[in-house]
Amino acid sequence: MATTAKKTHPSSQTEKVFTQSEISESEHFVQFFENDKFLLDSLSEFIDTSLNAGDACIVLATKSHRESLEERLTTNGLDLVAANTRGEYISMDAAETLSKIMVDGSAEPGRFAEVLGSMIERAAKGRRRVRIFGELVSLLWADGNRAAAIRLEELWNDLGKTHAFSLFCAYPLHGFGGEVYKLEFTEICQQHSRVIPSESYSALASPDERLRAIALLQQKAYSLEVEKAERKAAEEALLHLAAIVESSDDAILSKNLEGIITSWNPAAERMYGYRTEEIVGQPVTLLYAPYQQDEFTQIMARIRRGERVEPYETVRVRKNGTYLTVSVTVSPIKDRTGTIIGASTIARDITRQKRLEAKFRRLFDSNLIGVFVSDFAGTFLDANDAFLDLLGYTRAELLAGTMERDALTPPEFHSLSQDAVIALQETGASGTYEKEYLHKSGKRIPVLVAVTRIEQTETCIGFVLDISERKELEKRKDEFIGMASHELKTPVTSLKGFLGLLQRRLTIQGDEKTLHYLARMDAQVNKLTRLINELLDLSKMQTGQLVYREDRFEVDALVQEIVENVQDTTQTHRLLLEGQTQAEVFGDRDRIGQVLINLLDNAIKYSPQADRVLVRVSKDQNKVLVSVQDFGIGIAKEHQHKIFERFYQGIDPEEKTYPGLGIGLYISCEIVKRHGGQLWVERKKGKGATFHFTLPLFSEEKGLTPLKHG
Ligand code: ADP
Repeated sequence: MATTAKKTHPSSQTEKVFTQSEISESEHFVQFFENDKFLLDSLSEFIDTSLNAGDACIVLATKSHRESLEERLTTNGLDLVAANTRGEYISMDAAETLSKIMVDGSAEPGRFAEVLGSMIERAAKGRRRVRIFGELVSLLWADGNRAAAIRLEELWNDLGKTHAFSLFCAYPLHGFGGEVYKLEFTEICQQHSRVIPSESYSALASPDERLRAIALLQQKAYSLEVEKAERKAAEEALLHLAAIVESSDDAILSKNLEGIITSWNPAAERMYGYRTEEIVGQPVTLLYAPYQQDEFTQIMARIRRGERVEPYETVRVRKNGTYLTVSVTVSPIKDRTGTIIGASTIARDITRQKRLEAKFRRLFDSNLIGVFVSDFAGTFLDANDAFLDLLGYTRAELLAGTMERDALTPPEFHSLSQDAVIALQETGASGTYEKEYLHKSGKRIPVLVAVTRIEQTETCIGFVLDISERKELEKRKDEFIGMASHELKTPVTSLKGFLGLLQRRLTIQGDEKTLHYLARMDAQVNKLTRLINELLDLSKMQTGQLVYREDRFEVDALVQEIVENVQDTTQTHRLLLEGQTQAEVFGDRDRIGQVLINLLDNAIKYSPQADRVLVRVSKDQNKVLVSVQDFGIGIAKEHQHKIFERFYQGIDPEEKTYPGLGIGLYISCEIVKRHGGQLWVERKKGKGATFHFTLPLFSEEKGLTPLKHG
């Protein structure tokens, strides 16, 4: 420490800060103080000591400081009037002095040097040392003109280079309360050759007391740093919370214990229609229906008891008078001391959800179809009577949790259920699919099912249609088709046989005219045979009795042969074959031939205005590709997938009818699939249709791969 404090009166706080030897010839020091009394003690001691030593003093202070100072000095026995006359004591008003040197809010260096320089020169006459007490900077600081204060300190230092004087500056410590002053405080300290702490420190007498005070101050500073960090974190958390409240979709409001609204978020504005400025300060009962007064009283009573009101459903009224259904949670708000001062309310608009629920309930209770609610794992949580009756279970059994999807489903359908759950997780809905349930009696029940996920939960709603009757009918129809085609096949085969016989005889007789009619008859019998064969194939496919021969054969030769055969049956279209594969495939040559015949027949049949059909063959590393392109009526997009279904016949845009049973593509598709290939259609609007099918290449390494059994 540059100053050694010496207590003059042990009982008083005042102490000797300045002794003559301690004030050097030329220095610029600063004293911080907490109260005026301390400053005046220091100041009077400074002046007193200096005048007694024969130095000249300049006091640039406020009126009140100068008066108090002079009173003390006079009491100490100094004759100020005489000192003033001798030019040893110069006292000037600080504000007035400032006005002489300030230009546009800042001290003008020229004026400063002139005013203060001449004052010092005057005081220094007779080779006196000059001591100055200056409050100019302190006034600027108090005015908030802090930059000017620091600048003035610099000017004093500059003046010190040309003039010899000691300068005593003083700042009240309370002018530095706040983080913002940290840098400027450091700057002020740097501008001074000596810094004297305020009285709470410098009044301490012993070095030990001072060390303790430093330790205490350090602890205080550290605590403040920690507190600052904590406060910052708390502020950030608060900002974060405020952002959540602002952006929430739920209405969040607070009210005091009288039910007066104290805050209101944007969602509340949207939900109830009141703007923040019109509702804050209003009673929350504005949002209640007239008959709900009791509800309000009960809630507030519970809040006063410190209870939280768990979410409950109720009704509220919007500004425009309409009602909405809300789910509300109310919690007490406490102040720092733990006293309950109000409540916060979070309300979610569930009007839409309620309406949906009501609609769903009606469907559920109508029992038109079976409806169930289940979790993704397959436990049925709820079901309507239609569903329970379908499976032969009681409501009690359902509620006991004994109904499990997998236990109620034959094993071969389990993978379908798994697929449905995956679809639920990915898209929220399964689409419809056919499966079977096991009735309690063990009987199988064919059903059509569709499930959709209940928003954001691991549960779903399922709709179940009993299709037993339809399945039974389909079965009977299949049996009938099987039987009818079988019964038809025998007479048509003998018809064909006799026709051949007749043709041979008439050829020998040279009866050209009758032969011509017989040829037309033959064509019709062929058509009939094909239709019957299609029906027979279909029926065999249904029952898994269609037999495939398995052998390797050349693709190019087969395609060439079929194209030539079909070309013989048409005079209207030219069949143009492109490409070669040199490839072999493994399977039933006749059945693959049947697929190509079917595609070519269709291409001709469905392009009556065209005169050509293109057939292309190609191959890549693994497969051959056969394409049949026509320039006919094409296929509407919505029918693109349906044409491969059984008995599906497309509708011609011009409502023209085409002969056929709608099963050719179904059979073709099945055949190609059994060979491990694919059949699909490519459509270009107004440009006909192109059917493609692929077949895996035969490979020696793989050997003979048996056909898939489906
Ligand atoms: P169909 O005996 O009716 O021809 P298919 O199963 O062979 O039965 O074909 C099913 C339906 O697909 C047909 O009714 C027709 O609407 C449509 N279709 C098939 N091939 C073509 C094609 N090349 N151009 C336009 N439509 C076609």
